[in-house]
Formats: sequence, structure tokens, C-alpha cells
Amino acid sequence: MNIESQVQLKPFNTLSLDSIASHFIKVQSIQALQDALLFAQNNDLNVLLLSGGSNMMLPEHIQALVVAMDIQGIEFLNEDDQSKTLKVGAGQVWHDFVLWTTEQQLYGLQNLALIPGLVGASPVQNIGAYGVEAGEFIQSVEVFDRQFNQVKSISATDCHFAYRHSIFKDDPNRYVITHVVFKLLKTPDLKMNYGDLKTAMGDEVTAENLQKQVIQIRQSKLPDPKDYPNVGSFFKNPIINQTEFSQLIAKFPNIPHYPQTGNQVKIAAGWLIDQSGWKGKRLNQVGMFEKQALVLVNYANANLTDVKATYQAVQKDVFDKFGVHLEPEPVLFNEFGLIQNH
Ligand SMILES: Cc1cc2nc3c(=O)[nH]c(=O)nc-3n(C[C@H](O)[C@H](O)[C@H](O)COP(=O)(O)OP(=O)(O)OC[C@H]3O[C@@H](n4cnc5c(N)ncnc54)[C@H](O)[C@@H]3O)c2cc1C
Repeated sequence: MNIESQVQLKPFNTLSLDSIASHFIKVQSIQALQDALLFAQNNDLNVLLLSGGSNMMLPEHIQALVVAMDIQGIEFLNEDDQSKTLKVGAGQVWHDFVLWTTEQQLYGLQNLALIPGLVGASPVQNIGAYGVEAGEFIQSVEVFDRQFNQVKSISATDCHFAYRHSIFKDDPNRYVITHVVFKLLKTPDLKMNYGDLKTAMGDEVTAENLQKQVIQIRQSKLPDPKDYPNVGSFFKNPIINQTEFSQLIAKFPNIPHYPQTGNQVKIAAGWLIDQSGWKGKRLNQVGMFEKQALVLVNYANANLTDVKATYQAVQKDVFDKFGVHLEPEPVLFNEFGLIQNH
């Protein structure tokens, strides 16, 4: 077992935060994962699961075992007239996997192209974009259950997928996702009714073109973390009830909103931030991106304290103007590798 010590995690998190892990290991199999978990237990260390590091905020020092998930492989399980089922290792790169499914003429995930990160993290917050969520195409999730020390499969229903949510968020110290089983369509059922997608597609109504347009739109709107370190949408779009929404729209008739089930309404966090004067504004070396107000960028060598100062200032200004609380999307870790409330 190759446990490294005092490892710099800056290259492993897309916000490029300086963060030194006391212990670090890359695991490529379930056995290696079990060995690592045992090492952590025997050495009284918490375990921080790391995939692509594109949805996390890390402190400057972490006294814990950081386990980088690197289980590879794609295996066809079965098929029927409409679909094929495949089991994918947690360490596969998400975007490469999406491109591969399109090449294989397997459909459903095209709207989710170019989302950074690895396959194993996709169920955690039920990644979503352009009107599609990964959970719609997940049949089950294979995990190592740390509570009962066993490998098991959790059905999609039992994952309780919701907007940016799943059981893996409720119980982050219990499950390590080792594989995800996807059920993909043999015939495209294109979801194009989101934003400018339909117009961008023109007359070429194919899954290949849908994927291509999603990639182009994302590249034109979202900063590449290599140029502008970021974690994508920094805040969730708030979901409020109808009464709160009626009061809000009476005062701000232009507020972009999307009706949800259960008499709730989703409102656009980016618009709230923009209207609060934060689009393109910085506090020291951290600010909200000039082309997309929802993206927080580390413009220089910011640390977690700097990031917190900026996002809390944004939260305050939005709350003062609209009475709406913005909840950050990325996972916040403390110096013992545990998830913290924002
Ligand atoms: C430019 C940019 C654009 C983005 N766009 C989108 C978007 O459109 N839609 C969207 O939903 N998200 C988006 N994101 C957020 C992010 O890409 C997703 O949340 C992604 O799924 C995170 O994957 P990751 O591999 O980087 O996970 P990490 O950041 O490494 O981990 C995220 C969380 O999952 C846990 N975790 C990781 N692996 C496992 C595992 N195997 N088992 C159990 N827990 C695990 C971690 O401990 C952590 O709590 C974007 C991010 C960036 C930087």
C-alpha cells in the first residue's frame, strides 16, 4: 500500500486552493480501497474521498487520509429492445465517458457533456445540466458500505435522487461509490427545451449535434478551471414556496423562475447575484465571473478564508436585497477531512 504523506492537493482541486493532506493514497480496486479504509481506522484518521476535485473547497491543512478514487473500466451487463445497461468504474472521467456513449450510439447523457469530474461523483449531487440529471439514467450505484463493511448495490429509487441531492449527501461518511450502473437508450429521446439549445441546434436534430452544441455553449459561457480556477455554479438555484415567490415577483417582475413539483418555484441564483451588483466584482483575489455571475473564481492564490469572505459577502447582499438565502453547492471540508456546514 503506497500511502504518501504531506501531499499538495492544489493540482487535484479545480478551485486551485493550496491544501496539504497529511496522508494520501490512490485506489484502483475495491481491495485497495478496503486496505486504505483499514489503515485510516488503525491510525485514527478520517477519510476524505476525492474524485476530480471539481466540487469541493479544501482548507490549507488536512489531517486525514485523502483517498483518490481511480477504479477504471466499463462493462456491458445486458440489453433489451430499448436500452443497454453498463457498469462503469468510479474513476472514469465523466466527459470522456459521455463522449464514448455517443460513439457507441447510446443515448441520454449528451446534455451532461463537459461536466468536470469522475463518474463516481456523478450520483453524489445527481449532476444536472440543460434539463437532464444523471439520476434519470442511473439504474443502481455500487458502493462499499463502511457501516457494515460490505460491497452492495443501491437501486436508483433508494438513492433518492433530487435536485443536486442524493442519499450520498445525507450520509457522506457511510458509502464509497465504486461503480455506477447506467441504463442508456438505443434510440435518442432528445431534450432540447432548455435555454438556447434548440436554436443552437438548427435543423440538425441528432444526439451528436446536441452534444456538440452543449459543449460549445458551455465553452462560451463557463470559464475553464485551467484558466480561471472555479467549481462551476457556486450557488444552488434557490427553491422557494409559492407564497414567498408571489411576494418576490410582485417586487421584481423580471425574476427568471421555473415552476417545480409540489407548488414550489426555482429561481435563478445567477440573476440574483447579477442584480446585487456582483457580476464581474471581486473581493481581493476572489470574485464572481464577468460572463457568468454564478461562477466564483480564484483569480490569484486565494485560500479558503479568502473564498469564504467573498461568498459570504455575496450571500449577504443577495439576502439584503431579495430576502433569499443562497446555499453554496460545493462541499466544504474542515481540517480533519470532515464535511462542514457552510
Ligand atoms: C467548470 C465547472 C462546471 C460544472 N458544471 C456542472 C454542471 O453543469 N452540473 C453539475 O451538476 N455540476 C457541475 N459542476 C460541479 C462538478 O463538476 C460536479 O459536481 C461533479 O460531479 C464533481 O465530480 P468530481 O469527480 O470532481 O467530485 P469531487 O469534487 O472530487 O467530489 C465531490 C463530492 O463527492 C464525494 N465523492 C467523490 N467521489 C466519491 C465516491 N467515489 N464515493 C462517494 N463520494 C464521493 C467527495 O468526497 C465530495 O464530497 C461543475 C464544475 C466545474 C468546475
